[in-house]
Amino acid sequence: MTGHDLVSFFKTKYPENTAYEWDHVGLQVGRLNQKINGILIALDITEAVIEEAIKNNCNTIISHHPFLFHPLKKINLDTPKGALIEKIIQHQLMIYAAHTNYDVGHPGMNQMLADKIGLTETDVLDVDENGIGMGRIGTIAPLSLDDFINHVKNQLDLKHVHLISHHDDKIIQKVAISGGSGSSHMMAAKKKKADIYLTGDVTYHTALECLELKLRVLDIGHYAESHFKTALKEELIAFGIKGPIETATVEVSPFKLK
Ligand SMILES: [Zn+2]
Repeated sequence: MTGHDLVSFFKTKYPENTAYEWDHVGLQVGRLNQKINGILIALDITEAVIEEAIKNNCNTIISHHPFLFHPLKKINLDTPKGALIEKIIQHQLMIYAAHTNYDVGHPGMNQMLADKIGLTETDVLDVDENGIGMGRIGTIAPLSLDDFINHVKNQLDLKHVHLISHHDDKIIQKVAISGGSGSSHMMAAKKKKADIYLTGDVTYHTALECLELKLRVLDIGHYAESHFKTALKEELIAFGIKGPIETATVEVSPFKLK
């Protein structure tokens, strides 16, 4: 089993060329010819995740968020990023990113999240000019807004969420979701008459726009995407990728509610 086997999994299930143009997916650091001793699946490449991979003898890390995203003009080993690159190369790790190609794929991030919160009759939320569909919209047995929020927090194992709502006295039945930073799909959620739109990374000014639009939004953050780890692990095993395949346990939300 080498990096090429991973590539063939993604080529079949979540082709790199389905990622958004601005994205950077696939092999990020390392060499595809390298034999895979073990795979660690993580949301992000952090020092803790790299340590966990080394400790568990996993020389391959698949992350959802790309480790290298903004262009590097220099690699200063005295910076946190430089030190991580140094460690990755010293330990001969292979770093692979499955980001928007995983988001738009099937089941991918969004069907997985929709299934987790129990949406049925799901459909793609937003299709762009290239025919690439992002997010899901579906229905749930009617719940009050408070009950719905508690349900989402339980199902996605979230300690806190942010609600943007022009009025709270609403029965929730039609739900749109786009994992990660999905503010660009809020018009689709509005057009398709979602009672609430679940996404992450909603800024203050976007929140104001949602109020004006009368689009109810629940900001579930990027950490909600953590559940992809188990889902991807199962898909890799089903595809025949030989392990061991682990999911990172050291990751926690960077936000603390005070
Ligand atoms: Zn994300």
